[in-house]
Amino acid sequence: MKIVDIKATTVTMPLEAPLRHSNGAHWGRFVRTIIEVETDEGIVGLGEMGGGGESAELAFQSLKNYLVGHDPFDLEAMRFKICNPTASLYNNRTQLHAALEFACLDIIGKKLGVPVYQLLGGKLRDDVPFASYLFYRYPNEKTGAGEVRTIDQLIEHAKDLKERYGFTSHKLKSGVFNPKYELECYLALANAFPNDSYRYDPNGALSVEESIHFGHAIEGINNDFFEDPTWGLNGMRRVRENVRIPMATNTVVVNFEQLSANILNPAVDVILLDTTFWGGIRPCIKAAGICETFQLGVAVHSSGELGIQLATMLHLGAVIPNLTFSADAHYHHLVDDVIVGGKMEYCGGKIRVPDQPGLGVTLDRDKLNQYAELYLQLGGYPYDRDPGRPDWYALVPNSNWADHR
Ligand SMILES: [Mg+2]
Repeated sequence: MKIVDIKATTVTMPLEAPLRHSNGAHWGRFVRTIIEVETDEGIVGLGEMGGGGESAELAFQSLKNYLVGHDPFDLEAMRFKICNPTASLYNNRTQLHAALEFACLDIIGKKLGVPVYQLLGGKLRDDVPFASYLFYRYPNEKTGAGEVRTIDQLIEHAKDLKERYGFTSHKLKSGVFNPKYELECYLALANAFPNDSYRYDPNGALSVEESIHFGHAIEGINNDFFEDPTWGLNGMRRVRENVRIPMATNTVVVNFEQLSANILNPAVDVILLDTTFWGGIRPCIKAAGICETFQLGVAVHSSGELGIQLATMLHLGAVIPNLTFSADAHYHHLVDDVIVGGKMEYCGGKIRVPDQPGLGVTLDRDKLNQYAELYLQLGGYPYDRDPGRPDWYALVPNSNWADHR
């Protein structure tokens, strides 16, 4: 089988409300690039990458010179063709490779008539548990609904998500407001649902000393882990030496060099595996194997996803034995999806792993066109700008917090 074409389409998917984070916001929508890899046998594989626009589409187009004629079964050869580690110093293609790996696995599964998890060692679970992903939010521009800023709003939002989706673990995305206020929010949340578990993730916005202070203050609650309170392996190591909560990261251990550094001189206990950041599903499984050997925890990270990327997270979550924490997903913040059947459903806080051949999702062509049109209307948005504070930018560690009053 040979690859004959690669198509990339940028789409914009509206969110229930703009999501605030330590660097700015998702401005009420996600921009994603949907990949279709076509073969000479008529089988088409699907992939997805965060961000988009002309430059992303051109980046995929440029890889046609490398991959037209390539057999999609030859996954390792594809890695070295486009992601040779020394050549990558000049052309960082890890995320492009991830989207193409998803598509090739989809093609292989469809060709063999088996779901992707069968290609990866077989599934160990039928569904993958997810944590709620709680964000501070601006109100929806059109409806005025959905704001999360006060403690009451945060608890109401968590209650609503619990009722709708069945979450029993909650991740509070933070690093937006003064850590003193965010501590009040986190403790109030834990107090509201005392049987659930929690994770706090300010995206590295706190200083080492603030992180230690925060960590001491939350030691009494049921924490899954303390996620990237501060920036950098050395900062995380200093926090880890001073708190009694497992430390987690999706930012400072995102490749094998960093993973080996963390094993030689531990700074993080739980590695959050992201199928895009690590360059595909298979590198995540390789990393999970190393974590299993060294008895580090793993979980599945979300960098924002539509249904195709979600399917990669489900197949990953299905096959790794050491998945001891629920996964993260932004998915419940989306208002729609580009796959046939609409958004996948949560049942008891879990999503079922697709059993159809390949990734198990089919592109809804009308939805793809609808949201590609929306991208053309609205364009991109700057992830590292806050629509409520146009002149502000984040320092690391940050000290200029948004006003919560
Ligand atoms: Mg994180």
